[in-house]
Amino acid sequence: MVNYLLMITAELENLTNLQPEDGKDDPNFSYYFKLKCGNCGEVTQKETCVCLNETVSLQQGRSTTHLVQKCKFCSREGTVTMIPGRGSPLTLELSESGKSAPLMLFDCRGAEPVGFLFGEGWKVESVEGTKFEGIDLSEGEFADYDEKGKCPVMISNLKADFTVVK
Ligand code: ZN
Repeated sequence: MVNYLLMITAELENLTNLQPEDGKDDPNFSYYFKLKCGNCGEVTQKETCVCLNETVSLQQGRSTTHLVQKCKFCSREGTVTMIPGRGSPLTLELSESGKSAPLMLFDCRGAEPVGFLFGEGWKVESVEGTKFEGIDLSEGEFADYDEKGKCPVMISNLKADFTVVK
């Protein structure tokens, strides 16, 4: 069994605590990524989408998962199960020291997640405490103005990686 921890980082200007709108285990937050087949290595052409509140039942009984997908090339089935509780906000401190923050843990069988895409549903706050919600990061950045701190705020240079964890 291999678990993949999705780690994210970005350059934050006068901002901190970048995270999904309802926090680390936001049930409606969508994760977009491709799947690489564990059998033949084929990578799906389109991103697949999983979110915590959408589950599917596995054939052999008791458990549920978040995605079952067949490889188009070799027909091997892969599953992706999300494991909540591991995320934490990307703070300004982490960002400034070039570190990443964990977003979500995925238990993947028969497939490997690759190429995470940033989408909608993010929130962040300014260092002065102004909250920005409903942020769409699909264009790769976000810029606004903090009235309280009287300074521009910006998210840029988004990066994401799936790290193998035991
Ligand atoms: Zn395959």
